[in-house]
Amino acid sequence: MSGVSQVNAGRRADQPVLVVNAGSSSLKYQVVHPLSGDVVADGIAERIGEAQSSITHTQNGRTESDELPLPDHQAAIARALEFFTANGVDVAGADLCAVGHRVVHGGRTFYRPTLITPEVVEEIERLSTLAPLHNPANLIGIRAAQELLPDVPSVAVFDTAFFHDLPDAAATYAIDREVAAAHAIRRYGFHGTSHEYVSATAAEFLGRDYGDVNQIVLHLGNGASASAIKAGKAIDTSMGMTPLEGLVMGTRCGDVDPGMILHLNRVAGLGVDAIDALLNKRSGLKGLAGENDFRTLTEKMAAGDEDAKAAYDVYIHQLRRYIGAYMIELGRVDVISFTAGVGENAASVRADGLAELENYGIIIDPDRNAVRSKEPRRISTDDSPVTVLVVPTNEELEIARQSAELV
Ligand code: AMP
Repeated sequence: MSGVSQVNAGRRADQPVLVVNAGSSSLKYQVVHPLSGDVVADGIAERIGEAQSSITHTQNGRTESDELPLPDHQAAIARALEFFTANGVDVAGADLCAVGHRVVHGGRTFYRPTLITPEVVEEIERLSTLAPLHNPANLIGIRAAQELLPDVPSVAVFDTAFFHDLPDAAATYAIDREVAAAHAIRRYGFHGTSHEYVSATAAEFLGRDYGDVNQIVLHLGNGASASAIKAGKAIDTSMGMTPLEGLVMGTRCGDVDPGMILHLNRVAGLGVDAIDALLNKRSGLKGLAGENDFRTLTEKMAAGDEDAKAAYDVYIHQLRRYIGAYMIELGRVDVISFTAGVGENAASVRADGLAELENYGIIIDPDRNAVRSKEPRRISTDDSPVTVLVVPTNEELEIARQSAELV
């Protein structure tokens, strides 16, 4: 950590960071100490702009909820600040080191945490064409926080940053070069903050230098992505120009033949918005089994639901394809880490995802795999040449660390 701020010498990295993750109608926040990882408070405002909004705030082990009209994100942050004040923390005053914002798309411009200036806001806005669902919402959160906390430096941490230096061969789609260049079409990758946090934690767990370790990280949540990290550098990832490519997700399709989209348009008569909704919201586990929540899906499967089982099989099939591809790309794999809601909790996904790979040096210990914990843990046998870990992700802490480091 570089310690004292260059932008505001009064702020210290041992002060907490307010981390803001703004979606189109929701806003998640957390106040966290970047050094210790201690969480002062966190909360979520939902259905912002609708008639029935709500906010839930947890601090000092106590959760408070409020149903109230929250016309916009600024109202949501203002209500969160009231919760803090009522609990004796002067967030609006001198207690914060920085506000760290999750920003989804940094394009080719942003590849490290960036102090938010009017020019940066303008550029994030320009990049909205690449992430029309996300960047505008992130910007609303940025503006709202700046309005309410004008004296606290705000920092943007980009989901794409970790994958900024993917090798050209991995980042390039095989389409007409000029068309690709004209429209900024390439693989950007997403969930970078999580892949970075988990891979760093995995190296630390092994007691090895980050730059010496070859890793596969499997971020399996509602959104899902895989990455291959060779000697500390990301060399491939499953999400592409948008967060739609790659693994099967809760409601997103992952890899499909682009010819299918032409067919849906020409033969099925679906327009671009209908195809967008189909692939983003009614595909993945939801499309296959009518259920995007993995826990419910496994319950249905246990009850004999055949669609749920078929969806699970497709999910595992696709996961194994990526694991296999990344093993070849890496040549030598030291560690495979599972993270996010499904990866951290669904032992069956970990077991089935890596089943029968003993010949490739991957041996899972079923007892270790069955353990439930919020700590990083090993699930491979002691003599498994490849170490397999479960590493709970913590994107908020990573954003807080990167923000504090910058200021
Ligand atoms: P995330 O996007 O990381 O919050 O992950 C959300 C996904 O994790 C949802 O599909 C949840 O159903 C799934 N999940 C959470 N807990 C469990 C669990 N105990 N077993 C299986 N899946 C879970």
